[in-house]
Amino acid sequence: MTLHTGRHFLQIPGPTNVPDRILRAIDRPTIDHRGPEFQELGASVLAGIRRIFQTESPVIIYPASGTGAWEAALVNCLSSGDRVLMAETGHFASLWHKMAQRLGLKVEFIPGDWRRGVDPAAVAERLAKDKAHTIKAVCCVHNETSTGVTSRIAEVRKAMDAERHPALLMVDTISSLGSIEYRHDAWGVDVTVGGSQKGLMLPPGLSFNAISKKALAAAEKGGMARSFWDWSDMLGPNEKGFFPYTPATNLLYGLQEAIAMLEEEGLENVFARHARHGEATRQAVQSWGLEVLCQDEREYSDALTAVVLPDGHDADAFRAAVLEAFDMSLGSGLGKLQGRVFRIGHLGSFNDLMLMGTLAGVEMGLSLAGVPHQRGGAQRAMDYLASTSGNSAAEPKLRVKA
Ligand SMILES: *Cc1c(COP(=O)(O)O)cnc(C)c1O
Repeated sequence: MTLHTGRHFLQIPGPTNVPDRILRAIDRPTIDHRGPEFQELGASVLAGIRRIFQTESPVIIYPASGTGAWEAALVNCLSSGDRVLMAETGHFASLWHKMAQRLGLKVEFIPGDWRRGVDPAAVAERLAKDKAHTIKAVCCVHNETSTGVTSRIAEVRKAMDAERHPALLMVDTISSLGSIEYRHDAWGVDVTVGGSQKGLMLPPGLSFNAISKKALAAAEKGGMARSFWDWSDMLGPNEKGFFPYTPATNLLYGLQEAIAMLEEEGLENVFARHARHGEATRQAVQSWGLEVLCQDEREYSDALTAVVLPDGHDADAFRAAVLEAFDMSLGSGLGKLQGRVFRIGHLGSFNDLMLMGTLAGVEMGLSLAGVPHQRGGAQRAMDYLASTSGNSAAEPKLRVKA
């Protein structure tokens, strides 16, 4: 193994780089989680996280990875045997689908090619046929981290409303919260699932359920047998800033700092920063003559870009070459995309020079691994960043044509 110096480049699309401010915030002695100091922390993060989800409703914080919050969303609102509609947007949608099946839900999976988001028209078409309203929930992944495709959630909501269908809308924002615009209330989402280790810039270990009134009512009337995930156990103590069991106190210190950082920058500016870095990355990929996996310009992810390697070239060999030569981790192809794509994470605590280091590493790695490409992608991104610098709140001016 080569000895590397300087910082490792962690450019996978989550877990993301944890900023020093957050590391310092976490680095504190443990406190009494039933005492007044904790109560202040608990009340602060429980109120602050609502602003990040853009909701007035309660947000539950679990000491669990995102997968736990997926399960919590399903078991609180749905009963075994209930029908659920999901869309096959990629690996994460497929994992959530598998979980729902294991829990005894009857899931209809709208097939997809892993290059597009949820099709609002396909959701409308399926709901239109369900005159008896047997479908109890529509579940979507907002930002499909395996493909770099962002679904148009507000349009899915509109499609559901147009059919006057009462199904709950559940959305996974694990890799979009704090990086891509997301509005729990304004978009009429019933349960939003989030995680700590991607746009929120925290280490792994926390996950979230933002809950609408309608979802809460469904949970009060029904749901599956549940204990650890039960919302009602959480909501009571949460009102006073406490938790029913030992919370992940030090991660909550980190969360308090993450919320402060996002609000100092302003959510709109956070989203614009990610949009600009997404655009710069796509321009680099286009200049290399490589293909962005996402097929619909409206659905480009601003959190990550999945890049297709030419036939006969192994994306994992390319990633291994980059790791060995430049100490940079890029995201692998997941599920059926293994070996065919690599993913560039450009979310979380990130800036122009980190992006340029990343893209330079990719371009040098393409040469080292013998992947055919045109040089100059990093230069094109650099030109774009320079021409839009100091203007990070502005809309990207150039959109790469699909
Ligand atoms: C990372 C991720 C998950 C899984 O979260 P874990 O924290 O690994 O359990 C689920 N959905 C999406 C969209 C993700 O990006």
